[in-house]
Parts: sequence; structure tokens; C-alpha cells
Amino acid sequence: MSLFGAASPSNNQSAKSSPADVRRNNRQLIFSLLFPTNQYSRADLGRLTGLSRVAVSDVVSQMLDEGLLRETGQAPSGGKGKRGTLLSIDIDRLNIISLDLTQDHMLHGAVTNLLGQALRHAEITLGAGERVTLGMIGELIEKMMGMADGTVIGIGIASPGVVDGGVVKRSTWLDWHDMDLSTPLQERFGINVTVTNDATAAMLTERFFGQGDRNMIFVRIESGIGSAILINDTPVKGEMHAAGEIGHISIDLNGPECPCGKHGCLETMISDHVLRKQLIHADEQQKIQILDRAGQHLGQALSMPVGLLDMADVCVYGQPDIVNATFIDAAQQYLDASTSSTFHKHTVIRRCECGSDITVQGEAIAVLVHYLSQ
Ligand SMILES: [Zn+2]
Repeated sequence: MSLFGAASPSNNQSAKSSPADVRRNNRQLIFSLLFPTNQYSRADLGRLTGLSRVAVSDVVSQMLDEGLLRETGQAPSGGKGKRGTLLSIDIDRLNIISLDLTQDHMLHGAVTNLLGQALRHAEITLGAGERVTLGMIGELIEKMMGMADGTVIGIGIASPGVVDGGVVKRSTWLDWHDMDLSTPLQERFGINVTVTNDATAAMLTERFFGQGDRNMIFVRIESGIGSAILINDTPVKGEMHAAGEIGHISIDLNGPECPCGKHGCLETMISDHVLRKQLIHADEQQKIQILDRAGQHLGQALSMPVGLLDMADVCVYGQPDIVNATFIDAAQQYLDASTSSTFHKHTVIRRCECGSDITVQGEAIAVLVHYLSQ
């Protein structure tokens, strides 16, 4: 299984799959081998996928026409036989518009290439206490449509909270309930709109451009706290699309009240906002204690899923003065004390090294995954 969906090669049409299914499957398979920066010849792709020469040739030629792939020169000569032309993902012809709803003081978006790399940035500054609205999102997309050089294959929106299809079911941070983003925007722009949970989007960047492997727990600590889980390269959605909603798990039933109605949610204990309020009047020694305690709280919240799912890799994204060595060490110690054993290998918790474009890049990848599934 790959994130781009293709499970296995389809040389022949089986009773169940239509020619369109076969084509889509093979397209996903070839794309996932080349993404993000691999180069293979048609012969390589045939060997790697088990597809026939004709099948590879057909799919590749269609993908070249479409702007997904490009030819990038000759493979080194391997002795006898003629050298093959190398193929790679084309980063020049197709664009994606990607928006990030997680920022405190602005609505941020980028026009990206097929690797999700931002080519142009755009933003709308939010006033004090102002929240993002559907109108602002439409305005920013309109602006970015004019900034794209290539054909826009899709629009992506990364939102905090519980996302189901194109609808943000619930976001405490944005104060949204059942906010349908995709229907009105798709109608207005005539392009497919993908909506993804912000932690899931960022995790895709960590998977392809960071250190993440096929299995990981990815945690975002910002004004809100969210997480995403990747198992065998498949993001876990959950029965109610709320998998990863770690911010609203209570770690202290007598703790501070949360807007969600519970007490002592992780978000009320260690969000960026909460910690900054405590840090502002603290001396150096107190600062270390505050972040040490916050790290322990995260370790506590993660110990169950880490042990339960047998996870070896936990990646934490957040501001470097909050998610620092003190914080990470404290979380690591808690995890070691609560999960390490002879049958559960040492889980490493680490700070995410991807930069501030992590969300728009990951959302662009989510758009691409959707585009290739059509
Ligand atoms: Zn809560």
C-alpha cells in the first residue's frame, strides 16, 4: 500500500475492475514510485511494478501528456541494449493552491508545484480576535488563481479539528461546527476542493520530505493541539473522522475547563498559548520546570497510543522555544518509564525539523493524492 493508493499492478482487466480502474491503479503505482524525486526509465518501472512494457508505456505516455511526468535525460548505459529515457515528476506544468487555516494572525496560502513546494505565497492578515471566514478563504483563493503560472489541478485547505470529506465537523480553535468548505468553493471555482485535518497534512510533509517512515504518530502543538497517525503508510481516520484528536483527551479530570465541555484536556494544559502565558512571568529555573512538566503531560497522553499501536516514532511539531530539548527529554523519559519493555522497543520522540511551509506543502500532497484517485 502506498499513500497514493495503488495496491498492486493491473496488467489485465479482471472481472471486477473496469479499464478505467486499471488505468487509475497503474497511474498511482507509477506516480508513487517516482514521487517525490526519483528517476526511473520505463524499463525500470516495468521491473519495479511487474507491469508489462505495453502497460507502462501507455500509462507513462498519458501521464506525460497530462503534465504529471517529464522526461529528464538518459539513464547511464548498462552494457548492452539501448539506454532508456529517465522519467521524473514534472514540477513545471501543474500547480496546486493550498491554504493553511492554523495560523494565529493570518490566513496563509501558497501556489505550489506537484511536490507541494511553495512557488508563491499569499496571505490575509487577521485583526485582533478575528477568525477566518469562508468569505476570506474565497478571497484568498481568487487572488492565488491569478498567481498560478500552470494549470491548477486542485485546491486544498488544511484545517484544525475534525474533518469529514469537505466539511469541518468541529473545530474548537476556529469555533466551527459543520462548516462545509468544499461545496461552495467548488461551485465558485469549478475545481475540486480537498479539506484535510492540519496534523494529517503536516504529517504527509514529514513522511516525504522529513524523517518520517511508514509508521508514526505526528503531534502539532500550537494554539490548539492535534495529532495524526500513520500506519503502514495509511493515515488513520477513525469511525467519526476524529482519530488523532489528542488535544481533547483529558489528562486531569480536575484540570482547567475546556471549551469542549470537559476538564483538563491536553489543549488546556500544554497548548502554545497556555504555556506562553505561564512562561512570560517565569524566571529561568521556572521556565525549565514549566516545559519539563508540559513534556511529561505529552508523554502521559502519548503512552497509551504508543504502547497500544507499537509505535517507534513520535514526531512533534511546534515553536522551537516551546518544543525544545527540555520538553522533548521530559516526554521521552515519561514514555521510556511507561512503555519500554523487553517486548516493546524503545520509542523515540523527536522534534519535527520541517519549516513553516509544512502545512501548505502537506495539503498540496493531499490534493495530489485525491487527484490521482479520480
Ligand atoms: Zn477539550
